[in-house]
Amino acid sequence: MTGATHTGGCNCRQIRYEFTGEPQAVVACHCLNCQRQGGGAFSVNLLLTDEQFTLHGEPKIYVDGDTESSAPVYRHFCGNCGSPIISTAAGVPGMSILKAGTLDERVGFAPQMQCWTDTAFSWAGLPGDLPSSPRNPELG
Ligand SMILES: [Zn+2]
Ligand SMILES: [Zn+2]
Repeated sequence: MTGATHTGGCNCRQIRYEFTGEPQAVVACHCLNCQRQGGGAFSVNLLLTDEQFTLHGEPKIYVDGDTESSAPVYRHFCGNCGSPIISTAAGVPGMSILKAGTLDERVGFAPQMQCWTDTAFSWAGLPGDLPSSPRNPELG
């Protein structure tokens, strides 16, 4: 995989990361767990392969078993400042699901689809022509 290198990290900078190239997908997630973890109306998640993504630092991991399938999502966050960084899950092997709010740059990586619109805040609109899933996305 070649391409530009992108960087980001947590508020206190104990956790930093980089990835190369383009994400496999960019998904806005309106699920309750993302809302609670991030404290925002929704999270924007970049799907990155393990080959693309390098993490520096030692995040804490919360094993989030409150999922539709009961298969846990592993939520990696900075134990010092609390910033959510990535999630991993057995259902998406070899992938890191990166929180776009932790990126250093503010261009690119607009959501291509949105999921869990069943639990979206009523005012949290995204462009209506984005493909939407009421619950879990089809990630092809
Ligand atoms: Zn931190
Ligand atoms: Zn979510």
